[in-house]
Amino acid sequence: MNDSPAFRRDAKKHLGQNFLHDHSVIERIVQAIDPRPGDAIVEIGPGQGALTFPLLQRHGRITAIEFDRDLLDPLRAAAQAHGELDLVAANVLDVDFGALAQRLGVEQIRLAGNLPYNLSSPILFHALDYATSIRDMHFMLQKEVVDRMAAGPGSKVYGRLSVMLQAYCAVTPLFVVAPGSFRPAPKVDSAVVRLVPRDPASIGVQDPKRFADVVRAAFGQRRKTLRNALSGVADVALIEAAGLRPELRAEQIDVAGFVRLGNLPVIG
Ligand code: SAM
Repeated sequence: MNDSPAFRRDAKKHLGQNFLHDHSVIERIVQAIDPRPGDAIVEIGPGQGALTFPLLQRHGRITAIEFDRDLLDPLRAAAQAHGELDLVAANVLDVDFGALAQRLGVEQIRLAGNLPYNLSSPILFHALDYATSIRDMHFMLQKEVVDRMAAGPGSKVYGRLSVMLQAYCAVTPLFVVAPGSFRPAPKVDSAVVRLVPRDPASIGVQDPKRFADVVRAAFGQRRKTLRNALSGVADVALIEAAGLRPELRAEQIDVAGFVRLGNLPVIG
């Protein structure tokens, strides 16, 4: 696969290019996505087509967003043998997924990709901004990031990413991938995760912006107690009214606790 001379070039480190070459991993990802007729599958970072071409063979048509202009022509040329590639030359962080869904004629797109690891958190938060336009996401990320996404209170890696992702999505880690499955091999293990967005109102979030602000404030100073970390956002009486002890720290509060904190009236 991808033996075209046009593709034989060095990976660009600053674009997080670690190309998958392990066919069994690629097949497991395609199976996890399980494209169905009518699905609008949108891949972030097709690279040299490791996932794109098997997805095209299975589904016939894929939209893919690639930032590296050097990859576009070789991708277009190689894709012809597999199906119809709708290639978007863009920085994914500039892509309006709502407008993209509209262009593709669907209410919700399905996102997938082996993400550039240096951008994984910004891409995740960008996707959350368009949660209502996204049916699900299957992403390869650093295993450490997937661990953070799925962590609960008390875990050392529980943080803002865990609370925000779990408030907006059902998070299901699927499987771990070793560095040797990529070229060049990254220094760390990777993992594939499935995210299924839900309306945060369904878990009680009344004001998404205030919820996000409270979570950011609480974890911005994660060693501080709630009383101190949230001064200016909520006073002791309000924290207690949310059923939480003011001497707790952010890392001890579960998602439901943050939902209650985010729903408190604004002070001041
Ligand atoms: N999907 C390919 C694979 O599995 O072999 C490539 C994965 S590689 C880890 C990440 C890909 O994302 C690269 O093709 C890189 O050029 C692309 N990329 C990096 N930054 C991007 C951005 N801001 N927007 C869109 N694509 C980006």
